[in-house]
Amino acid sequence: MIRLEGKPVAESVRAGLKPRVQALVARGVTPCLSVTLVGDDPSSQIYVNSKDKAAKELGIEARTYRLLATTTQADLEAHVRKLSSDPSVHGILVQSPLPKGLDEAAVVDLIDPRKDVDGFHPTNVGQLSLDRPGHRPCTPWGVIQLLKHYALPTSGKRAVVIGRSDIVGRPMASLLLHKGAFGDATVTVAHSKTADLPSVVREADIVVAAIGKAQFVQAGWLKPGAVVIDVGINRVDDPSSPKGYRVVGDVDYEGASKVASAVTPVPGGVGLMTIALLMSNTVDAAERLS
Ligand code: NAP
Repeated sequence: MIRLEGKPVAESVRAGLKPRVQALVARGVTPCLSVTLVGDDPSSQIYVNSKDKAAKELGIEARTYRLLATTTQADLEAHVRKLSSDPSVHGILVQSPLPKGLDEAAVVDLIDPRKDVDGFHPTNVGQLSLDRPGHRPCTPWGVIQLLKHYALPTSGKRAVVIGRSDIVGRPMASLLLHKGAFGDATVTVAHSKTADLPSVVREADIVVAAIGKAQFVQAGWLKPGAVVIDVGINRVDDPSSPKGYRVVGDVDYEGASKVASAVTPVPGGVGLMTIALLMSNTVDAAERLS
């Protein structure tokens, strides 16, 4: 069984970005990612700090805006409009979730699609669906890089994506369906209303679990030799850990590793890819916009 570690893949993505950042800087362009955090959600604070750190390590300018939870829709929209029209900003990310009462979709709609490094703007969603160029959502795009790095072909394979969210499941299915290398899969998308999920999963050569339920996918559901990509990040109580919890995926890793041919660990798998691909989208944007 191959343990599909994210670290070497994320490192190779970053290594590829360094000379591109240097080339931009040499012609007077510092790639700039703006991250807007509204309110004080503790998990979001952690994500924003790690994005800031990753950007700085690559020589990308990270502009973090921390807005009060009481920010109005009109003020947030004015802030995003300003970033969209600021030529020194190449990437715009608004950290999700927004505090209750703020309309996230209306805010995303105002991001210049060329700067939409999360790939959530309807223009980029459409481009992805049509298999045309555009920013790809970082987590599923990271999964494709992982499959490429470990030379796990998808062409002609049966892939089952569990989850149909806008940020993971749907874009993952679109990418696996694209024509060409690391696409060309026969894709099924499962969700909470799917009947007899275990028998659907048993058909799959490639399983992508993006559910948000700790260790939900059982080893007995898997086809022997399947490739298992676990996107889930879930906290479970663990009194033996200093923090009182540990992080697990959506798949029973121990069980799956006895049946599958390759499995991503959690933590240490897909999670490491997301920020690397965010940096990649930011450098792409800086190159295209300058
Ligand atoms: P989400 O928006 O909550 O979507 C979860 C999906 O799972 C939904 O489509 C839901 O179906 C489906 N689902 C729920 N219960 C199910 C069941 N019993 N059987 C089959 N499908 C079921 O979550 P998300 O944002 O896609 O995130 C999924 C997981 O990935 C979470 O653990 C999240 O923390 C993690 N994540 C990780 C990264 C990373 O960087 N690694 C990035 C993003 C998310 P319905 O549509 O029918 O409700």
